[in-house]
Amino acid sequence: MTDLQTPSPDCLPNALEALDRVRGEIGGRAIAFFLDLDGTLAPIVDRPDKVLLPPTTRRVLDRLSRDHLLCLVSGRGLEDLKDRVGLQRAYYAADHGHRLVGPPDSAVALEIGGEHRGRLHAAAAELEGLLATVPGALVESKGLSLSVHYRLVAPDSRRLVSRAVKRVSESFSDLSLTQGKMVYELRPPGDWNKGRATLWLLQRLAMKPHDSCPLCVGDDLTDEDMFSAIDGWGIGVLVGTPGRRTRARYRLRDPAEVASFLALFAPED
Ligand SMILES: [Mg+2]
Repeated sequence: MTDLQTPSPDCLPNALEALDRVRGEIGGRAIAFFLDLDGTLAPIVDRPDKVLLPPTTRRVLDRLSRDHLLCLVSGRGLEDLKDRVGLQRAYYAADHGHRLVGPPDSAVALEIGGEHRGRLHAAAAELEGLLATVPGALVESKGLSLSVHYRLVAPDSRRLVSRAVKRVSESFSDLSLTQGKMVYELRPPGDWNKGRATLWLLQRLAMKPHDSCPLCVGDDLTDEDMFSAIDGWGIGVLVGTPGRRTRARYRLRDPAEVASFLALFAPED
């Protein structure tokens, strides 16, 4: 994970309050939006399958996608992400960027680490077995990544989850283990991440620093890879105030503020 040396989120200007500065940084360049879903566009709830994109936010995104590159960048699986967002003109970078597809007429498609799909399924099956007796533990096999959610696990049982994850990650040592908000994740090996996928798409679409400004918005540790990747080119916006240092340069309080901020770039008809 990125070595983070920049100020804590509390010191960052709010992107809504510092809008003139944000617009100044963008200048005359085309904005390319790279947006996380959970905790960024959609409020986090107890179960990941209950997370909903607010209808007003979907309308803002739909308007944005008419005139801008709009890419959802998420740890969710591809079909889940597409179904949950449901925008025709959007790009979708799922499984932390390991699978990326564009709108039907774009001919953009990428898959990184597909040869590890079988290993990920096997690891998910083993985790399901180990965690079957731990109430609230959710194993989600997503294709090119798997998640173990423990938000609903009682605090004194969470060590059972971490123990099972440790055991499986040791026997599947070819897979890469990461941790997010109340979730452990296994991914294909290597250093592919949301940031690499962001840069790949910008390059694929021939977008350059002089003519385009990536605007990346996310709340979780995995979003720091996006902020780092576009540092010096675009703008990173952190959602919430997690207790860590960040490479983002602005912040927004919650998904409601994110929707208000994005709406400023997507005027109503
Ligand atoms: Mg998130």
